[in-house]
Amino acid sequence: MIVVGAGHNGLTAAAYLARAGRSVLVLEARDRLGGACTLEHPFDDPGFVVSPCAYLVGLLHHRVIDELDLRRHGYRVHLVDPHLWCPFDDGTALSLWDDSERNHQVVAAMSPGDADGYSRYEHLFGRIRQALRSEPHDTWVGDAPGRPALEELLGRDPELIEVMFEESIASVIERHVGDERLRTALHGQGLIGTWAGPRDAGTAAIHAMHSMGTIEGRPGAWGYVQGGMGQVSLALARAAEEAGAVIRRNARVAEIVPGDEVILDDGTRIPTRTVISNADPRTTLRLLSDAAPAAFVEKVNGWRMEGPVLKINCALSRLPTFTAAGPDDAPHRAMVTIARSLDETQAAYERSRVGEPAPRWAELYFHSAYDPSVAPDGRHVMSVFAEYAPYTPASGSWDQRRDAVADEAFAEIARFAPDVLDCVVARQVLAPPDIEAAVGLSGGHIFQGECLPDQMWDRRFAPRTPMPGLYMCGASTHPGGSVIAINGRNCAMTVLADTAEATAAP
Ligand SMILES: Cc1cc2nc3c(=O)[nH]c(=O)nc-3n(C[C@H](O)[C@H](O)[C@H](O)COP(=O)(O)OP(=O)(O)OC[C@H]3O[C@@H](n4cnc5c(N)ncnc54)[C@H](O)[C@@H]3O)c2cc1C
Repeated sequence: MIVVGAGHNGLTAAAYLARAGRSVLVLEARDRLGGACTLEHPFDDPGFVVSPCAYLVGLLHHRVIDELDLRRHGYRVHLVDPHLWCPFDDGTALSLWDDSERNHQVVAAMSPGDADGYSRYEHLFGRIRQALRSEPHDTWVGDAPGRPALEELLGRDPELIEVMFEESIASVIERHVGDERLRTALHGQGLIGTWAGPRDAGTAAIHAMHSMGTIEGRPGAWGYVQGGMGQVSLALARAAEEAGAVIRRNARVAEIVPGDEVILDDGTRIPTRTVISNADPRTTLRLLSDAAPAAFVEKVNGWRMEGPVLKINCALSRLPTFTAAGPDDAPHRAMVTIARSLDETQAAYERSRVGEPAPRWAELYFHSAYDPSVAPDGRHVMSVFAEYAPYTPASGSWDQRRDAVADEAFAEIARFAPDVLDCVVARQVLAPPDIEAAVGLSGGHIFQGECLPDQMWDRRFAPRTPMPGLYMCGASTHPGGSVIAINGRNCAMTVLADTAEATAAP
């Protein structure tokens, strides 16, 4: 069997298939493993270890961690707490922790009338996680359920159904809290990687999805992986190789002939009856030349996968100073939210939608505040995950505008950390076409396609394609994008079921 691509999902599929006794060859186009979940040393000082794309783990499935024994293969996590820290224009700041009681007190101190509403808001997303992700009915494992089954699991609760399928993040927040600062701090969680503004339908489901994980036994928590996010992929690669899979780098597949062979860029032909594509749908279709049926072509052509993310990876001489941080605040140990207001973020989205980059909202991450192994002694790293950045600017090109747009993002950060630019010794700026060029994610979409409700659950790609012998295992499949790995496992189980039947047939 051949797996096209050594992203974390391709490696997961390879590990399960090899463990089941199948002969597995993984062909990766790049010289590094992990796709968007990888490691790089982009700066002159190789002591800076950068997770260029994915940087935080929160949704990685516990079954994959346990079944593939990823801890033995080096996977270790530092939980991020405080969860979120957000400075405001009036000089105050909010810390939210991995502790509901404490958050109730924090919000009560900021806006007494909102404390109960905030707790209900937190609880709402906890109820969704409980309904959809509890064993033995974990909806992320196996075939994707459709809306009727999901509504049943949500207890036919109209509020939960609305959040999962229709509501905007702005509407959910505004129903629960009135203080503008709280609204400013919270709305970005509905926008992660998504071409939509906070007032757009479906964005509440983005927050729901990102709250559905359990890491180190902590529901809804996120963490830094010791050594950088790519260590997840390296642990998966070790598990796959230990089980007998062979992984080849610098082996770009030029064509897939389903049920027959794959052809590499250099013309090498490798016969195989089963191909598992880890590449995104657009790339997979391109590799098929004209072998795909019309319905599949139509689905791929209609698949929305244009990314809005500007990622800036920085080497720092020291940590920047956030002027709003009080003596008990720990901004560098939190995910720092930089925003003006919910409506300013919506306006930024609308500007970007017509082609004007507008990086007004950002999250900052300081991995080295938990794990000093990713920076030289005394130095630090910072990731800036900013929105919005259109794939195609209306004027000029990204080559002409990349640095100026990155400077705009830094200007937003400098409103709260005026010395930030003094701390940056080197930076790597990735606009959507750069993400596409570096990782192969078409359109630069970080999830191989939007995760808004109309592209989720049974609307995502299934592992089994209409072309016999061709399967898909990447983030475009259920349960969606992020470093989850259950997509790869789901695909491997489908392949094993199909090939077991084929073996049993006379
Ligand atoms: C900027 C950014 C930030 C992100 N942040 C986070 C985060 O903090 N946490 C999180 O959980 N997720 C995050 N994500 C999302 C997450 O990284 C991705 O959704 C996930 O890694 C996708 O994994 P995958 O294995 O499905 O596919 P990919 O990572 O896309 O892997 C596909 C692989 O296929 C290879 N390939 C493609 N074509 C060919 C070919 N013709 N021949 C051979 N090989 C080929 C590619 O080189 C690549 O290695 C982020 C993504 C980006 C881009």
